[in-house]
Amino acid sequence: MQGIWVTELQTPHLALSCRVKKTLHWEKTPYQELSIVDTEAFGRMLLLDDVIQTTVKDEFVYHEMIAHVPLNTHPHPREVLVIGGGDGGAIREIIKHASVTRAVLVEIDARVVATAREYLPEIACGLDDTRVEIRFEDGIDHVRRFEAQYDVIIVDSTDPVGPAAGLFTREFYQNVFKALKPDGLFVAQTESPFFNAEFIRRVYHDIASVFPITRIYLATIPTYPGGLWTFSLGSKEYDPLAVDPARIPRLPTRYYSPEVHRAAFILPPFVQEILHSE
Ligand code: SAM
Repeated sequence: MQGIWVTELQTPHLALSCRVKKTLHWEKTPYQELSIVDTEAFGRMLLLDDVIQTTVKDEFVYHEMIAHVPLNTHPHPREVLVIGGGDGGAIREIIKHASVTRAVLVEIDARVVATAREYLPEIACGLDDTRVEIRFEDGIDHVRRFEAQYDVIIVDSTDPVGPAAGLFTREFYQNVFKALKPDGLFVAQTESPFFNAEFIRRVYHDIASVFPITRIYLATIPTYPGGLWTFSLGSKEYDPLAVDPARIPRLPTRYYSPEVHRAAFILPPFVQEILHSE
């Protein structure tokens, strides 16, 4: 292989490599190593600790699916919290909803936001909307402090290691439940059904022990391990499967649609087995 390549070791036995056109930025923040590279295959790419977070080519899938599924499940989402998500992609999608009056971004690492603003303007472009508040703090502490505050909480975190590990615990889900209004719901990115089956099963059962409605849905994200990604949703009242497609507003999206909303919850047997096997 000629030229410079960026390689993410996605599992101890699997790597994804992309040819690099240019390295645009590298720094060590107080929390992680942050880099932005321009790649032939996916355009500009944000990596944290050498793990691909988002790329200009495929980010729309992840950000649309993590935002519009919960926001269209809730009939009138007004106050929305994003934990992590410093690139701004989830916020860009959230503010497409006219019902949203306040979108709070709680990101632990201020450098992620600053770097995304500089190098990924097409992803970070919603961060200056007047409804958006940005707080640089730990999302685990943030949810502990609030009661019945948010309609929707979105956990757009890094993988469950380091500062993000505590975002995937039963105790955290209990605090999310408390921070949500009586009809609130939350969603989290929950890794690959090919490579993180045990983790997905554990998270599903932890959410189900806290929320009356628990669902998993899928999206195809080429730069994430295995290409197929799970999102886990816990809800106090509204079931994402009961949403009337005719009620879903037609927003400008490239992956999400009312039909995809329904289809994303149809789980192949191997994913159902992950949830229901002992
Ligand atoms: N879409 C991405 C993925 O799955 O690879 C995640 C993108 S976003 C950049 C993840 C963000 O979560 C990072 O910027 C990281 O700093 C932030 N983060 C990790 N742990 C956190 C915590 N406990 N509280 C707030 N933000 C956190």
